[in-house]
Amino acid sequence: MKIARLADLADAATCPRLVVKVGSSLLVAKDGVRRAWLEGLVSEIAAAKARGQDVIVVSSGAIALGAKTLGLDKGGRGSLADAQAAAAVGQIALSGLWAELLGQHGLTAAQLLLTLEDLEDRRRYLNATATLTRLLDAGAVPVINENDSVATQEIRFGDNDRLAARVAQAARASAVLLLSDVDGLFDRNPALPGAKLLPEVRGVTAEIHAMATGGSSSGMGSGGMTSKLQAAEIAELAGIALAIASGLHDAPMARATAQGIGTLFLPKLNGRRKAGARKAWLGGRLRLKGAVVVDAGAARALGRGSSLLAAGIVRTEGEFARGDAIAIRDDAGATLAHGLSEYDAAECARLMGTQSGEHADLLGYAPRSAVVHRDQLVLL
Ligand code: GLU
Repeated sequence: MKIARLADLADAATCPRLVVKVGSSLLVAKDGVRRAWLEGLVSEIAAAKARGQDVIVVSSGAIALGAKTLGLDKGGRGSLADAQAAAAVGQIALSGLWAELLGQHGLTAAQLLLTLEDLEDRRRYLNATATLTRLLDAGAVPVINENDSVATQEIRFGDNDRLAARVAQAARASAVLLLSDVDGLFDRNPALPGAKLLPEVRGVTAEIHAMATGGSSSGMGSGGMTSKLQAAEIAELAGIALAIASGLHDAPMARATAQGIGTLFLPKLNGRRKAGARKAWLGGRLRLKGAVVVDAGAARALGRGSSLLAAGIVRTEGEFARGDAIAIRDDAGATLAHGLSEYDAAECARLMGTQSGEHADLLGYAPRSAVVHRDQLVLL
């Protein structure tokens, strides 16, 4: 059974495993934690567990909470050092809170702090999958956040929206519910008159991206609509439904599922097939070692399912080694695909624009059949 409506997110048969992401502004108010609200949400999570659904929580709020305790301005986001210090303080309180409130329903909380690299590196990604699976099998509720205190700018997710989508992939979840301070995606800036909430989006197209206004409206989290759409793209590639709904109300999960208020992102109807687990991981990679820029002919061939050949490459970017994940872009800068390169950057540069027959001479050794083989490539 496939998820087709927001109501399906509350159905254990269609949605056996759900990731619920809670934004900072929902958890932390001016005077501290919004405990009563969180108690309500935890009751809803307990109800979902009782229905037979596995629930994984991705909880923000460590930085916002720690900043209050330490008396840091700008919500602890004035500098990376501030954010890291704030997160270290806030995370203890945050985990304690989740453990306490879930415990009141007889549920066991399990904390996981992840960095980007934990999910970008295939081996570590599989480790995270194994841990999550074991925890869920044991009936626990994983409560996940980014390990903000050690993650430096270059190796951070920076927002929990994409983290939630990557966690959903790793845990093979059926859906992600992003609870934030907006009702969902509007066709224009929701502050403008006549802005309409989109109940359903099939495929995150350029048109959909154009509707998003960047930045977090509360100024507390780092998300905003842009990162939510990126999360929806990651989920889409893995065949996972993703919903954006407001958590500003009591019983926010029921408001989204029973009243249907929110935006549900579903994979395109007639679009590409769902990528296999490995390809979905590759497509969802956020940091790549480099890129190759291809001409229009190669872009068309990729679209037809062909491998990437050297003849269609016009430029290489970055220092990547053989086996590294790279982006394949068109001349306008749009990312067409992710793939594992058969050559390092210098070899690519030597071969680009040339025909396969010339490769043995150019390299001085036996060439590969393609720069990125179609089995190691996922179209975006
Ligand atoms: N990891 C951050 C925190 O716990 C939140 C990131 C976000 O705003 O999405 O405070």
